[in-house]
Amino acid sequence: MANVAFIGLGVMGFPMAGHLRNKGGHAVTVYNRTAAKAESWTKIYGGASAPTPAQAARDADFVFTCVGNDDDLRQVTTGADGVLSTMKPGAILIDNTTASAEVARELDAAARARGCRFIDAPVSGGQSGAENGVLTVMCGGEPQVFEKARPVIDAYARMVGLMGPAGSGQLSKMVNQICIAGLVQGLSEGIHFAKRAGLDVERLIEVISKGAAGSWQMENRHKTMNEGKFDFGFAIDWMRKDLGIVLSEARRNGATLPVTALVDQFYGDVQAMGGNRWDTSSLLARLEKP
Ligand code: NAP
Repeated sequence: MANVAFIGLGVMGFPMAGHLRNKGGHAVTVYNRTAAKAESWTKIYGGASAPTPAQAARDADFVFTCVGNDDDLRQVTTGADGVLSTMKPGAILIDNTTASAEVARELDAAARARGCRFIDAPVSGGQSGAENGVLTVMCGGEPQVFEKARPVIDAYARMVGLMGPAGSGQLSKMVNQICIAGLVQGLSEGIHFAKRAGLDVERLIEVISKGAAGSWQMENRHKTMNEGKFDFGFAIDWMRKDLGIVLSEARRNGATLPVTALVDQFYGDVQAMGGNRWDTSSLLARLEKP
C-alpha cells in the first residue's frame, strides 16, 4: 500500500488509476484538468481528487502522469502548480505519456534537483490494454528506482521492462511505433490487393495469418479493415504525434527511416480525408479512396 497521485484521467489514465486503486490497493488521489472526469473517477473508485497537480502530489510516494504531449507534461510537472513543486524527497515520478526522450531527461534532472526520482514509462496496448490492466510498459531510469516502482506499475501491466537510463522507455516506445507503421501499411496493401483480386479476405487471412505473414495487427484488425470500419483503436492524431517524435529523434541519432517517414505522410492524407480520430488501420481507406 502506498500513497499514489495520478494526473490525467483520459482514455488511458482513467482505467490505469482505477487499477492502482482496485488491484494495487493503493490510496489514490487524482487530478484532471476537466474536473468532471475526476469527479466521476472518485464516484467509481473512491479515493480523493485534488484541484491542482501540486496538491494531488503533496503526500504521494509515487506520482503518475498520463497526459497528451511534451508541453502538457511540462505543464503538469515543472509548470506553475506542477507536481514537482510539492513532491516530497524520495518520491518517484512515473510518466506514462508518450513523449520525447528529451523531455524525459529534462524531468529526470528536475526530479533529482528536488531529491526525487523519475521513470519514463510509456505504454502500449491501447484502450483495451488499459481497461483490462494488461499494458506493456517500457521504462527508463535507475535500476534501484525501477525496482521500487515496478510492483506499483504491475497493477495495470502485463509486461514491464527497464530499457536503460532516463529516456530509454520513450526510445523503446518509438521503436514500437516504427514497427507498427510499416506493418500496417503492408497489411493495408495486402487487403487492398486481395479485394481487387476477388479473393475472400476472411478465408485468406484465416490461412495466411498462421504463416510468416501473421501479426497482431492482422489477427485483430483484418475483420474491421475488411468491413471499412476504423474506430477500433489508437487514433491517427496520436499516431502522427508519435511519428513526429520518432522522426525528430531519428534526425538527432542519424537513423534512416524512409518507410516510417512515408507512412507518416500517408497518415497526413487520411487526416485530410477527415480521419483524425480513425484508428491506425485506416491506411486502407486511403488506398480505396475513390
Ligand atoms: P486523452 O484521452 O486525450 O487524455 C489526455 C489526458 O491528458 C486528459 O486527462 C487531459 O485532460 C489531460 N491533459 C492534456 N493536456 C493537459 C494539460 N496541458 N494540462 C493538464 N491535463 C492535460 O489521451 P489518452 O488516449 O489517454 O492518451 C494519453 C497518452 O497516452 C498520450 O501521450 C498517448 O499518446 C498515450 N497512449 C495512448 C494510447 C491510446 O490507445 N489511447 C495508447 C498508448 C499510449 P482533459 O480531460 O481536461 O482534456
